[in-house]
Amino acid sequence: MQNVTILGATGSIGVSTLDVLARHPQRYAVYALSAHTRVDVLAAQCRQFRPQVAVVGNAQDAQKLSQLLREYKLSTTVAYGPEALCAIASAPGCDTVMAAIVGAAGLAPTLAAARAGKKILLANKEALVMSGQLFIDAVTANQATLLPIDSEHNAIFQCLPADYQRITAQHGIEKILLTASGGPFLQRAVDTLEQVTPAEAVAHPNWVMGRKISVDSATMMNKGLEVIEAHWLFGASAEQIEVVIHPQSVIHSMVSYADGSVLAQMGNPDMRTPIAHALAYPQRVASGVAQLDLCRIGQLNFLPPDFVRFPCLQLAYDALRAGGTSAATLNAANEIAVAAFLDGRIGFRAIDRLIAQVLDLVPATPLDDIDSLIAHDERVRALSTEQLAA
Ligand code: NAD
Ligand code: MG
Repeated sequence: MQNVTILGATGSIGVSTLDVLARHPQRYAVYALSAHTRVDVLAAQCRQFRPQVAVVGNAQDAQKLSQLLREYKLSTTVAYGPEALCAIASAPGCDTVMAAIVGAAGLAPTLAAARAGKKILLANKEALVMSGQLFIDAVTANQATLLPIDSEHNAIFQCLPADYQRITAQHGIEKILLTASGGPFLQRAVDTLEQVTPAEAVAHPNWVMGRKISVDSATMMNKGLEVIEAHWLFGASAEQIEVVIHPQSVIHSMVSYADGSVLAQMGNPDMRTPIAHALAYPQRVASGVAQLDLCRIGQLNFLPPDFVRFPCLQLAYDALRAGGTSAATLNAANEIAVAAFLDGRIGFRAIDRLIAQVLDLVPATPLDDIDSLIAHDERVRALSTEQLAA
């Protein structure tokens, strides 16, 4: 029996994870669930999955949740706040941690899971983008297992040799081909992008996801973050990671080898496939996803990315090449910009303008330790907020 903690259980990835777990009650038990604000949804999840611990964002919500769980006659322990998240990610009663909080808020608990040597299923790409080598070092030093949930990285993982140790040259790997749908604005006239609304930006053609990652997909910052994520997960350089637009989202990514072979992983665009893959790895279990019907799909198309239409993708490559704190700067500025866009405070193109401005203002410095990284993240958020007000 594998005991699973889900950080961010009420989100899109959290709900898909519970869907897979529910199909295999003999294999998986839920140790703990967390939600930031959606107490009612979390209470219903507790009722179905009976975790030992449930964590919410603040004391008031904890009280509300306790009340609901009492009504359901559940003995689940209720806790709240960042420390409680770290506790459920590192508790002896948990084997596997699904890291599915969105943004930098997920860094501390995901790192706590690494330090406790857990099996980490990483959806929260921002945590790895920010902390890079520091995170990889924590995983290695504590013999944690890191399995990618992001569909592209899960696909790459599946296309790599089983004994792959983050050294591309040893395995004759030429390139990682990271596929991207291109999001909702692949075809839209570039000069109208200034006017797009949050509702248009979150309407992804192939995937149903949380609002932040949906906006990131519309700007293609999501692919930019994924380039950086691939660098840390697989030890590939910026030059070895190539983005390929593939509007159907059937091939989830590819690995190109020295002998000319290109291995691809395919499937319907449904996150339950990578979730089930990582949960059961190295075995395979049913995920609830329908089998791929290639004849019905008919065509697979590919085209190069347009860095003028999607400046965020270029900014991410630049940040990866600059190294040190640059990726953390990029991530923090992006989180502030996306929140402001979703709130209707800035236009769509102001997202890439703000990130470029902040990257110019904040020089890259070496990434020394987690405490200075967190301080850096807070400084960049404050600066980004100031720049928006200016
Ligand atoms: P979502 O917005 O649907 O859910 C986010 C979850 O995080 C919720 O449970 C919420 O309660 C929790 N949360 C939000 N802010 C928090 C905070 N400050 N402290 C603690 N918890 C907080 O997001 P999602 O689409 O499920 O994405 C989650 C992560 O997975 C993101 O990093 C995203 O990039 C990544 N991811 C998602 C998908 C997808 O298909 N949705 C695919 C690949 C990667
Ligand atoms: Mg992805």
